[in-house]
Amino acid sequence: MYKMTANNLTVKDSSVHGMGLFSTMDHKEGQIITIISGELIDADECVKREDEGNVYIFYKDEDEYIDASNHSQLRYLNHSCNYNCDIDEDENGNLILFAATDIRSGEELTIDYGYDEIYDYCSCSDCGNKSEQNDTK
Ligand SMILES: [Zn+2]
Repeated sequence: MYKMTANNLTVKDSSVHGMGLFSTMDHKEGQIITIISGELIDADECVKREDEGNVYIFYKDEDEYIDASNHSQLRYLNHSCNYNCDIDEDENGNLILFAATDIRSGEELTIDYGYDEIYDYCSCSDCGNKSEQNDTK
């Protein structure tokens, strides 16, 4: 196991919501930005913690979730429908945050949280449209 120093990231005021996570260097599309580290929990524990209002849990697979609520930076990763980051698993089984598009230094990093409720609160124009026709699924 190794730890990646997250010196390519910084936390500051966000235009999206409260504080946000920002890149302090350019990233090419597909480049790994950081490993998502935290407490490994199962699905039941995930549901329980989410009911308690913990919104910092990352999906890994059906029964593995990572609670990053104690992570000093990842907890500031905001949702955007025009996200520039995505989540994947690397060959070592680590959950990673990678650049979904080319990212310039100074850009806020965002992902699509991917659960239904987020779109109800999202203020982007896409979601304004989506919530009107949300009966799919
Ligand atoms: Zn949106």
